[in-house]
Amino acid sequence: MPKIFVTRKIPEAGINKLHDAGFEVEMNPVDKVLSKEELLHYLKDGEYDAVLSLLTDKIDADVLKGAGQKCKIFANYAVGFDNVDLIEAKKIGIMITNTPGVVSNTVAEHTFALMLAIAHRVSEGDRFSRAGKYHGWEPMMLLGTDLSGKTLGVIGLGHIGSRVAYYGKKGFDMNVIYYDIKRNNEFEKEIGAIFSETPEDVLKKSDFVSIHVPLMDSTKHLINADRLKMMKRDAYLVNTSRGPIIDEKALADALRNKIIRGAAIDVFEHEPAIEPELMKLENVILTPHIASATEEARDKMAVLAAENIIAALEGKRPPNLVE
Ligand code: NAD
Repeated sequence: MPKIFVTRKIPEAGINKLHDAGFEVEMNPVDKVLSKEELLHYLKDGEYDAVLSLLTDKIDADVLKGAGQKCKIFANYAVGFDNVDLIEAKKIGIMITNTPGVVSNTVAEHTFALMLAIAHRVSEGDRFSRAGKYHGWEPMMLLGTDLSGKTLGVIGLGHIGSRVAYYGKKGFDMNVIYYDIKRNNEFEKEIGAIFSETPEDVLKKSDFVSIHVPLMDSTKHLINADRLKMMKRDAYLVNTSRGPIIDEKALADALRNKIIRGAAIDVFEHEPAIEPELMKLENVILTPHIASATEEARDKMAVLAAENIIAALEGKRPPNLVE
């Protein structure tokens, strides 16, 4: 009977799927991230045919080799796969899969939760009320800004970015511009989005900039001090992709010095650490990497990760093979 190791508790839906396929499932017994040593300890006998890993597991050459020759696949329970050494996996011949598509609506919703919250000063207003500072309605109290009619700039128009663009256009009547290394003419026609030739063009023209590119060498610090200075002074930056895409210290400087009006981010450069300078500021919202954290999305991710494992162990091409 094929054996699967799951590096941390995930929704039952995925585990049931693996059981239904006739697999034996063993799980990290403690609900915490395994250190590299702990992960290697579990894998060391090379008894697993597949590993279901999380974005918090660093799947480097040692771990891939440590899984042994029997192991055919690491199914990452995440859309991103920047935690995996893809080159080494290819060399060894271990398949890597991810869980794209099924969380796009959820992450796009969270992106709008952040965008609305920062523009309408929701978190700030909540802190204000709880601090006992609300003494009656005032015409000039906590003024924010509307989304409707504003320009939304999407950087990275993939599964999630295109949903964000769609919600922006259809839900909030925003003008949508975007930059992506691949132009999408069909989507442009469908919702009337306008392609920008450079990320700089998006930064200069947008009232709200939302980042949806994967983390790669080419996207690390895509948003740095120079690029923040290109944004409008009353613009907002939202990031639900990966933390290192933004230079967090530069962002804190830009927010403190009112180079931009506000930011709302779900991911951090050195997760789980958060730049202390950001914590001091009122004009930023910080959520703890929860953009895909709904029951529906997490169930779908668990099922998809299981489906990738089942396909690989049945000798088929997994639906979400990362190449
Ligand atoms: P996707 O692969 O469908 O889309 C990524 C898009 O970025 C593609 O259209 C690609 O062409 C474009 N791109 C790549 N490099 C680029 C560059 N240098 N400049 C401009 N565009 C570039 O991925 P997705 O499903 O939309 O997810 C995007 C990212 O969101 C993931 O890589 C993941 O890291 C992140 N994510 C975060 C959460 C969360 O919980 N916060 C949840 C899911 C996904």
